[in-house]
Amino acid sequence: MAAAVLNRVFRAKSLTSSSSSYITRRSLCSSVTETEHKKKPLYVSQRDLKKDEDRNVQWIFLGCPGVGKGTYASRLSNLLGVPHIATGDLVRHELKSSGPLSGQLEDIVNRGKLVSDEIIVSLLSKRLEEGGAKDESGFILDGFPRTIKQAEILEGVTDIDLVVNLKLREDVLIEKCLGRRVCSQCGKNYNVACINFEAKNGSPAVYMAPLPAPPGCAPHLITRADDTEEVVKERIRIYNEMCQPVEEFYRSRGKLMEFDLPGGIPESWPKLLHALNLDENEGRRLSAVA
Ligand SMILES: [Zn+2]
Repeated sequence: MAAAVLNRVFRAKSLTSSSSSYITRRSLCSSVTETEHKKKPLYVSQRDLKKDEDRNVQWIFLGCPGVGKGTYASRLSNLLGVPHIATGDLVRHELKSSGPLSGQLEDIVNRGKLVSDEIIVSLLSKRLEEGGAKDESGFILDGFPRTIKQAEILEGVTDIDLVVNLKLREDVLIEKCLGRRVCSQCGKNYNVACINFEAKNGSPAVYMAPLPAPPGCAPHLITRADDTEEVVKERIRIYNEMCQPVEEFYRSRGKLMEFDLPGGIPESWPKLLHALNLDENEGRRLSAVA
């Protein structure tokens, strides 16, 4: 594993936690059902005995819808050899399956309600247990925690090393969302926006190339009904309102790293790696050796 690279990250960021308790399904579930979320796993797994230096990263990615956090979380998970766990995917997966929560979830989603903390935590626990059985370790969480309660539950059972808050200038984010197009034939996503915004009011300059559709899809492009300026702005407002307390939760614990995206993937990826003190080639080489 890329342990040397990761150690370097932790040392550089001074984020090495004092104690390491691995997340386990039982401890996570018990913390939901118990009235208090105590840092007391029900049993000590072998991994609990490992020192911090031996374990993989336990990171969280935060960011507005449309910012591209799934893309960066997924790239980093490949680089670091840890699972990228997106709670949105877990919900979709459970809905498609005939799992114990699928009926309940279908009802919630059909009525346009938010999925409760308890259900999200139990899906996450299940996912981590399945991963644990396959000897997975570490994670990059995407879409969780979304509320203070979720953050407290997580804090009660494991040590999060780092929370990356991906940010994009709001004017750019709106432009990017308005430029989204979907092919009505194959469902692939494209973007017609060509973003080249100069620096202003302390916000960095941002360049983002369009993602044009190939000739086969070009005649079939449609705009999603919810990609209007009004809806996009409302989505951003709701996200900020909901997520600011979560950001503050991790900021006050010295775990939040703010990262302003300077553009699309070609501009942002190398800078993100640099900010995380990671080297793509080194990461690959170390992963290949392990
Ligand atoms: Zn198409």
